[in-house]
Amino acid sequence: MKTLTTDVLVIGGGATGAGCLRDLAMRGIHAILVEKGDMTHGTTGRYHGLLHSGGRYAVKDPQSAHECAVENIVLRTIMPHCIEDTSGFFVTTPWDDPAFADRLLAGCRATGVVCTEISVAEALRREPALNPQISRVLEVNDAAADSFLATDLNVASAREYGAMALPYHAVIDLVRVGNRIVGAVVEDLRDGQHKRIEAAYVLNAAGAWAGKIAAFAGITVTIVPGKGVMIAMNHRMVDTVINRCKMPDDGDILVPAHTVAVIGTTDRHVPDPDVYGIDPDEVELMMVEGEKLVPGFTRYRALRAWAGVRPLYKDKMSPMTAILAARINYSTTARAMASKVLSRSSAASGRPIASWLRKQSTK
Ligand SMILES: Cc1cc2nc3c(=O)[nH]c(=O)nc-3n(C[C@H](O)[C@H](O)[C@H](O)COP(=O)(O)OP(=O)(O)OC[C@H]3O[C@@H](n4cnc5c(N)ncnc54)[C@H](O)[C@@H]3O)c2cc1C
Repeated sequence: MKTLTTDVLVIGGGATGAGCLRDLAMRGIHAILVEKGDMTHGTTGRYHGLLHSGGRYAVKDPQSAHECAVENIVLRTIMPHCIEDTSGFFVTTPWDDPAFADRLLAGCRATGVVCTEISVAEALRREPALNPQISRVLEVNDAAADSFLATDLNVASAREYGAMALPYHAVIDLVRVGNRIVGAVVEDLRDGQHKRIEAAYVLNAAGAWAGKIAAFAGITVTIVPGKGVMIAMNHRMVDTVINRCKMPDDGDILVPAHTVAVIGTTDRHVPDPDVYGIDPDEVELMMVEGEKLVPGFTRYRALRAWAGVRPLYKDKMSPMTAILAARINYSTTARAMASKVLSRSSAASGRPIASWLRKQSTK
């Protein structure tokens, strides 16, 4: 069996893994990323496409709101080519409590999310397809983001800094010495060949699959996969991201993306991130909710429905070094999370991520 050696093995080629790979490579740490499909094969390639302003979480989850607001500015600066600056509205429809707009304004003020109330007339002038019965409109810095491009470019950049990224390489076992994970056995799914990758540290950035990876080492990491459905309609009926002005719920965001508009999403627990379907009632719900935002929505053609799985993490930090997709992990904040984890470093060790990871691995 061929053996590769590296400082850090990153498992998973989504937003988190690619962000980590680039961050490591830019710090001069040699890293290899393995991904069982193409890059973005997992949740990152099946998300809604929203660069969060933070508005969605300003009432429900202030910490995430603040993180999104900060990261929104960073990503607009470093990857403008992956972002369409659509702006975003939170609109109060006849089905929503008009007083929620005041709670949202206050939440945004408290968390640093830029948010301004604009007149309904102004909103309808800019978005004539919107429901004319909306009663209040708040504008935020939402945008449309291309996770395929962003992830591919992160990987391309990491490669330029000396990293290696191996698509179609699935982890089929972890190598454990005592209480440390020191590598993995991977299978090249294109030719069936196995490779052993030895690494000083292993980062589990496998999102909703993180529990399956940990299980190779006999470690329990409970991830509850939460499925969300989205539907691309055949017409870009709005140029602005449209959110319902209420607590986050199903089918309450419409994102313009290239020539289509994407309505989403739902949140249903599924037993396995590889085994789920799109239920007819979820599609029906998207149509009903879409109609509330844009009258006539259901007269457009639904082109494609897909789903992604949220990696909802339940346990305390596992003894295995892991980046787990926890509460802060939106695509919007994946770069920040990668940087934060890898910054817990000891410059003195000469191997910047070593000390923090060692602590985690021996807890
Ligand atoms: C329905 C939905 C909508 C969303 N919308 C948004 C949004 O609009 N904006 C936003 O900011 N965030 C959004 N999110 C959240 C965001 O998509 C995720 O938080 C993010 O993509 C997670 O990235 P990740 O890299 O951690 O996981 P993933 O992208 O899932 O990456 C993990 C990777 O690990 C790989 N893998 C698994 N097992 C193995 C193995 N054995 N060997 C090798 N590789 C393996 C998988 O193939 C996968 O590619 C949404 C999430 C969902 C579910």
